[in-house]
Parts: sequence; structure tokens; C-alpha cells
Amino acid sequence: TTRVGVRRNLDGEQVRPLKLCIIGAGGFIGSHLCEKLMWDTHHSVLAVDVYGDKIQHLLSPGKSWSDRIEFYKINIKHDSRLEGLIKLSDLVINLAAICTPADYNTRPLDTIYSNFIDALPVVQYCRVYHKRLIHFSTCEVYGKTIGSFLPADSPLKKDPAYYILKEDESPCIFGPIEKQRWSYACAKQLIERLIYAEGAENDLEFTIVRPFNWIGPRMDFIPGIDGPSESVPRVLACFSNNLMRGEPLKLVDGGQSQRTFVYIKDAIEAVLRMIENPARANGHTFNVGNPHNELTVRELAELMTDVYCKVSGNPRPAVPTIDVTSMEFYGQGYDDSDKRIPDMTIIKKQLEWEPKTPVYDLMESTLTYQHTTYAQAVKKAMSKTLAN
Ligand code: NAD
Repeated sequence: TTRVGVRRNLDGEQVRPLKLCIIGAGGFIGSHLCEKLMWDTHHSVLAVDVYGDKIQHLLSPGKSWSDRIEFYKINIKHDSRLEGLIKLSDLVINLAAICTPADYNTRPLDTIYSNFIDALPVVQYCRVYHKRLIHFSTCEVYGKTIGSFLPADSPLKKDPAYYILKEDESPCIFGPIEKQRWSYACAKQLIERLIYAEGAENDLEFTIVRPFNWIGPRMDFIPGIDGPSESVPRVLACFSNNLMRGEPLKLVDGGQSQRTFVYIKDAIEAVLRMIENPARANGHTFNVGNPHNELTVRELAELMTDVYCKVSGNPRPAVPTIDVTSMEFYGQGYDDSDKRIPDMTIIKKQLEWEPKTPVYDLMESTLTYQHTTYAQAVKKAMSKTLAN
């Protein structure tokens, strides 16, 4: 059932039902956004994606929201229906992208085309038809912190001025061109600049979102179960897969990189506020993350191992992690951001939003989902391989 009444925005004004064109609606973030919109609001969605599996539960007929969501199986690279859908909508949200680190240095062309070239027509249609655009960028546009260039023993490394990432102040620091890892960040940066310029020169109404490691159910795929066995998903799915298989978790270059993790359901609340508060969100770029949930990747591996053992009842593995080089794991051209702590001043001020869920809790609900969704299938796949 849906809980839909009159909706009011942060300024107490009534929010009329909106028609949203969500591109990339079938992905991890898109699926949670569609759920939120169907379950808790009166807005309707034109859901565009090449895959619909993650929103299938919303599309089956007979739901109380069935007349508010339509799925369009469209590849935006080459489908003229996109223009018409944008024209029909009040607001466009673009999530479509190749956004898996394993692809950045191994498929740099696809990465650049997907994150820049394919996003271009979306921006242009929004300008031509005067549609508001919420575009998903990434925290990777910050690249490395200034502090990463300080000597290892410098006391300044502890000074937040050298690592906190601010939307309106921090520079974007990428490695050299041979480090193709930065193809993604650079393409996202250029589309951000283009959108900003469309705002400045042509009055495009836009909001840019920079997600900082949003985590939760339905993120990516488990290789060999609901995705290709040779593909490498993002770290949450990689570690989940290792844990379900009873394999050691692979730590790239010592697992020293630091990340902050935010629960997808907290983050979706921020996106809903952007949707319903255009006067507060337009023209802004927002960090969306949880600065209190910082872990090194090594600590993430330890936490996930502890939580998975609790959730599954499995004993703690004798060898929980192994070290691999980035060359072995990702191949040539890999590089990494050292640390990512979002400054929250702007989003707090504009949207009165703060993340809530501590990292242990978000990991517990996510790994419970992974275990109940995949553990049986992983076991079956492993026994089949053994039998062969
Ligand atoms: P995702 O891969 O789960 O979702 C992206 C969706 O876009 C997929 O369903 C994919 O099929 C679709 N898509 C890609 N190319 C398309 C095309 N040509 N035509 C139609 N559909 C296409 O990723 P996500 O985690 O949901 O990320 C969504 C957005 O947020 C991306 O732009 C990503 O760069 C950004 N982002 C996410 C995170 C995070 O923490 N999850 C962090 C930084 C940035």
C-alpha cells in the first residue's frame, strides 16, 4: 500500500504531483529512488533503462501505484524516443553511466562516452524544452586530496583544510593521462562544467549530485549469479561475493584508501528533497555522503567479515584478507583517491538534510540482503564447479 497524502516542501508549500523522467532508473540508485517515489509520494515516473530487473517488483501489474510508473527499455545512445520522454516530463533525473572502477582504465572510451557524450543530448533537450535537470556526478571529481601531496609524516595531514572536500572551494586533482583511471572523473567533471555553463548562459535549471559511496541492497551484481562471472563489480559486491564463497577478501595496494559510506535510504531522502524543493536546490552542486562513516578499505573488509559471520552464522574465516597489487587487480593505468570526506555545509543549509545511519547498521541490513538473496545460489554454483 502507498502512504500518499498532500506533500509539502521545506517551505510549507504544497508540492503538486510531478512527472519525472528518470534515466538509469533500473540501476542501484534508480531502483531505490523509484521505490521511494512509488511508496511515499504522488509523483509519477517515466523509467528509462536498458535493464529493468531491479525495478521489476514495482512494475508488476495491480499495484496501487501502477498508473504512476512506466518502463521504457531504451539505450539512450541511440533511441529517438528519449527526446519525447523528456518533453513530456516536468523534471529529468540522469543516473545513466558506466560507473564501476574496474572499467575506468580498461574501457576508458566506453567510460568517457557514457559519462560525457551520452549525457550531452539529455542536457541539450532539457535546455531546449526548459526542463529542470538533476544530474548525477560523483565524488570522484575531487580526485586526490591536497593532503595526499604532503610528506607522509607531515602534521598538516591531520588538518581538515587539507582533506575535507567542499563543493565551492576544493580543486579537482587528477593523475596524468596515462593513469586512465581518471577518465571517469574527468568526463564527469566536464559534464558538470557544461551543465553549469548552460545554467549561466542559458538559464538551465539544474542540480548536480556528487554521491560519496552510497551503499545498500541491489548494488551491482554477484559475478556468475546475476552478472558475468569475469566482470568486477564495485567493492561492496566484490567483498560480498568473497564472503559468500568463503574466499579471502582482496585488498588492493594494502587497502589503505579511505572512504565514507552512506546508507542508500538516507541518501534517497536527500534526492527527494532536491526534487520537491527546486528553489533551494537549483543552481547547486551537493555532496551527499556521511562524513562520520569513514573506514579504510582494510577496515571495511574487517567490518564486512564480522557482520557477514553474524548474519550468516558462518565461522570467521582463517584467512580473511589477502593483499593484491592494483596492477594485478585492475591492470595498467589504475590510480586512486586517497581519502574522501564530504563537507556537508551546503546540503545542510539548503535542504536541511543530514545522514542518519551508522556504518555498522547499514552494513548489517545490506549484508542480510546479500545473504538472503544470493547465498544459496552461490553455494549451488560452487558445487557445480566442483562437480565439473
Ligand atoms: P548503476 O550502474 O547501478 O546504474 C546506472 C544505470 O544506468 C544502470 O541500470 C544502467 O543500465 C543504466 N544505463 C547506463 N547506460 C545507459 C544507456 N546508454 N541507456 C540507458 N540506460 C543506461 O549505478 P548507480 O550506483 O545507480 O549510479 C547512478 C549514478 O550515480 C551514476 O551516474 C554514477 O556515476 C553516480 N554515482 C554513484 C555512486 C554510488 O555510490 N552508487 C557514487 C558516485 C557516483
